[in-house]
Amino acid sequence: MPQNKLTDRFGRTVNYVRLSVTDRCDFRCVYCMAEDMTFLPRQQVLTLEEIARVARNFVDLGTEKIRLTGGEPLVRKDILELVKEIGTYGLRDFAMTTNGSQLTTMAEPLRKAGMHRLNISLDSLDAEKFRNITRTGKLSQVLDGIDAAREAGFRGIKINTVVMKGRNDEEIPELIEFARKKQVDISFIEEMPLGEISEHDRGLALCTSEEVRDIIRKHHELVPATEDSGGPARYYRMEDSETRVGFISPHSHNFCSTCNRVRVTVEGRLLLCLGNEHSVDLRRVLRGNPVTDDKLRETIINAMDLKPERHHFSTNGDVQILRFMNMTGG
Ligand code: SAM
Ligand code: SF4
Repeated sequence: MPQNKLTDRFGRTVNYVRLSVTDRCDFRCVYCMAEDMTFLPRQQVLTLEEIARVARNFVDLGTEKIRLTGGEPLVRKDILELVKEIGTYGLRDFAMTTNGSQLTTMAEPLRKAGMHRLNISLDSLDAEKFRNITRTGKLSQVLDGIDAAREAGFRGIKINTVVMKGRNDEEIPELIEFARKKQVDISFIEEMPLGEISEHDRGLALCTSEEVRDIIRKHHELVPATEDSGGPARYYRMEDSETRVGFISPHSHNFCSTCNRVRVTVEGRLLLCLGNEHSVDLRRVLRGNPVTDDKLRETIINAMDLKPERHHFSTNGDVQILRFMNMTGG
């Protein structure tokens, strides 16, 4: 009889899985990737069938929420097939994080394939700054993508903004007005020390959630919302708008005690914590002989014992985790 709940040594229930479907991307955001990234050879990458199998077995073990991420999930060929398949698993919440570059054509098909919610990254409303941050991205394409997503009728759309001093911190009020006008939620993210980057000093660029909140409070009163995501985000509401404002603060908010999530990289590494290297190789099981769902579930259940109690990010800008965010599945 399969166990239908995943729990770790600290009594936390894991019911949320973030699946990276590719390490590739059409952008090269300065905080996420090096300019000249080398991507994984195809044979090291899980097939869509293998990813679906992992997803299905997690659902059998009580997973209620799956997020597809990457890299840029919408650059993976035939991604809609995977979305359609996972869309049949009866999840309470099925979401994707995307840079928005493909949404003008993909938003409606994604919605029809069963995706419930989208997080769309947007770090600047100024075309030149947007270009500087993403290195290859075109702002107008993403703005059109956000409109296409709104028209497609998702249950929820949230903008994700990584705030960096000297790059986009001045745009916080404008981004809030944008979210209010478009009637979408917005989260401000503290940059995390994943992978070595060259274009800015993370210690100096770090703009804490506290600082972002102070800037917003000059324009709007923020009332704490009751929702708890079980993750690093804290949400607030404004009195005259439906827009929720979230703050993702891995540095200043220790969310580890309620952590309900794990990640699977596109190579099939099950990562038990964003801020630690503890992992288990699911690809070896998926490509073993014979491959059985029992073996896969057993490996996942046993892996829970490796979930560390907490992360140890520091704010001095040092790289603590060598893998980049695109490899991690942000
Ligand atoms: N390509 C998609 C996108 O950009 O939305 C999905 C993958 S991306 C790795 C997921 C999220 O991680 C994005 O919102 C991105 O801004 C964020 N991110 C990437 N590197 C980060 C870092 N070093 N610190 C904090 N957030 C980061
Ligand atoms: Fe690509 Fe997303 Fe990383 Fe930017 S944050 S480089 S869009 S994977």
